[in-house]
Amino acid sequence: MKIVRFEHKKKAGWGILDGKEIKVFKNPPFSGIALTRRTIALSKVKLLVPSEPSKIILVGLNYRDHAAELKMPVPFEPVIFLKPPTSALSHEEKIIYPPGVKRLDYEAELALVIKRKAKNIPPKDAHKYILGYTCLNDVTARDLQKKDVQWTRAKSFDRFCPVGPWIETDLNPDKLKISCRLNGRLKQQSNTSNFIFPVSYLVSFISKVMTLCPGDIISTGTPPGVGPMQKGDKVAVEIEGIGCLENSVI
Ligand code: MG
Repeated sequence: MKIVRFEHKKKAGWGILDGKEIKVFKNPPFSGIALTRRTIALSKVKLLVPSEPSKIILVGLNYRDHAAELKMPVPFEPVIFLKPPTSALSHEEKIIYPPGVKRLDYEAELALVIKRKAKNIPPKDAHKYILGYTCLNDVTARDLQKKDVQWTRAKSFDRFCPVGPWIETDLNPDKLKISCRLNGRLKQQSNTSNFIFPVSYLVSFISKVMTLCPGDIISTGTPPGVGPMQKGDKVAVEIEGIGCLENSVI
């Protein structure tokens, strides 16, 4: 099932995407799904970021093939960092190239949305806390990441976190093809079977640090092939079983 968050007649709502039609929910999907009798054509809505997270947690190096590309050892534990909720951007919205930034990179990533409050959960229970999966582009000002000791500035500009287009609930996250295309040219291509730390381990690990709240987003790291974007570029993150998140840079 594909869960969408949308804007229609200036009001935000949630629903299931069924072909070209949205079946509208009574409430956000975190406490169980209840349908209204309303349906709205997909063509009549603007898709929104498919969550309103209290935080977006991302993982550094998490693909074996990316570690090999960088000639870096496989890490013993995940490196995690945050992007603020104000960086979130929906499908087809524009990434803004910030003035003063000299290198702006794409990073295609599989992300998940938390369904219910999670604290100190074991990996074997992680699936109970996941609503579903979506595509994320961890847009990074690479020059600032190298210059600053902390990554916050490099990762946190407004519009640096495209997420979407929707949440797929029926998916095994451990073996999915993932790719990134820039202006139609293939730049990143891998499979989540190359994860160093699988989704269940990441959710457990992060829940031992901070309480995860309904709607929080966790992104699972990027495969090899990261590179720069320019103004006017179109970037597309595609993940098997989910779909394609497309944004352009202005
Ligand atoms: Mg990343």
